[in-house]
Amino acid sequence: MKIVSALAFVSTASAFMPSTAPKFGVLPVERWRETRSLLWECGSVTHASGLKPMIPERRRCVRISALVISWHVENWEPDKGQSNQLTESTKQPFDLNSCGFLTIHALSLSTIELPNRTSLNLKQDFLEASPYYDQSAVITNVYKNKAPFTGKIVSTKRIVGPKATGETCHIIIDHNGDFPYWEGQSWGVIPPGVREKDGKPHAVRLYSIASSRYGDDMTGKTGSLCVRRATYWCPELQAEDPAKKGICSNFLCDTQPGDEVMMTGPAGKVMLMPEEDPNTDYIMVATGTGIAPFRGFVRRLFFEDTPAANAYKGEAWLFLGVANSDALLYDDEFQDAKARFPENFRLDYALSREQENKKGGKMYIQDKVEEYADEVFNKLDNGAHIYFCGLKGMMPGIQDMLAEVCKSKGLDYEEWIKGLKAKKQWHVEVY
Ligand code: FAD
Repeated sequence: MKIVSALAFVSTASAFMPSTAPKFGVLPVERWRETRSLLWECGSVTHASGLKPMIPERRRCVRISALVISWHVENWEPDKGQSNQLTESTKQPFDLNSCGFLTIHALSLSTIELPNRTSLNLKQDFLEASPYYDQSAVITNVYKNKAPFTGKIVSTKRIVGPKATGETCHIIIDHNGDFPYWEGQSWGVIPPGVREKDGKPHAVRLYSIASSRYGDDMTGKTGSLCVRRATYWCPELQAEDPAKKGICSNFLCDTQPGDEVMMTGPAGKVMLMPEEDPNTDYIMVATGTGIAPFRGFVRRLFFEDTPAANAYKGEAWLFLGVANSDALLYDDEFQDAKARFPENFRLDYALSREQENKKGGKMYIQDKVEEYADEVFNKLDNGAHIYFCGLKGMMPGIQDMLAEVCKSKGLDYEEWIKGLKAKKQWHVEVY
């Protein structure tokens, strides 16, 4: 990682072709109030908190966190000399995604290179249908139990804090472009080994894919899973019993880069996004790892340079329920989306062990959705799609709450749900 100081590159900037542009590095922060210019490789510059992007965002390559006083951007192409002033210092990160020059007057500056940058000329439309919202070509079950696909682990990272209840990992799997999927689909994983009881191979377990079809690295060659390690609490031992831990989730959470994973799928069409109308509102309700498909949705709607992202004008509203703030998943990405697209992305958390509902009880996901019942119902009346994903146990509480709201509005709950299902606005995937 090399960040290049302006002084080193101003004179030679025009000589740099995108493909030969230098890589990034860590910029040492030795002084307060420094001015640096950076040369970067691909994409465009997005903004700090509260500012509209100056150029539509493309790939994210590098993240710069800065206490910025002002900044000035000069693009290679097509617009030269764009500049902007930040009226206040900000700690919000912003991303550099295109080839160009940026001068930052900052109190402090640090950079993180995001992994696996794609090459400059790789446009993010190579996995689109034509037109992009045509789902007639969505495929399922290309790889089956008897002839599974072998993926390779790129990375496995714990993504919850120390006080989270249990462990959840983000796992990136390389499929070399041979196992395409759509946002909202799942992959099956066949854990290695055989069952103790009968010596037969383990059954396949499904996992919602947590990335967009392009994968976290935007190459279209990886997919990500969000997996919670299943443990067994033995009431007699008053401790975890390792003999009864979940087979597949523990296998996945213990994987190392390069490990092979037997996979099936892609599975499911119930959680696809209806992209034909770019004004569609999405209401996404998740508990725990149920966040996985919605991370894919948010990346597709807001972080990519795809026809779908460029067309999107609706509102995507995410409700996530977890036990406490350490158990939040992908919060940094969702905060980023919220800061950058305040008109199009809403985020509400239900933290059962940290927040109280209006009756003074624990704040569960249904309590959080209920707070906005009028808005949610209005949106659904106007064609919004509502999605639920997570543990099965979330649905009775949600359904009771919706039934109560229907009652208060003089609606017949069964008829109301039937109407949403008939119009394909109701999507549930719980396990
Ligand atoms: P298993 O080995 O199948 O065990 C299941 C449970 O039983 C565990 O909690 C285990 O501790 C317990 N157990 C084992 N032995 C005993 C015993 N003797 N007595 C009592 N209890 C015992 N999960 C995710 O983490 N992320 C996702 O995105 C995700 N998406 C899904 C999508 C779909 C469509 C579906 C259907 C499921 C999804 N799941 C997801 C759940 C996932 O498929 C697995 O069910 C989960 O990971 C547990 O599998 P396992 O092999 O680890 O546990």
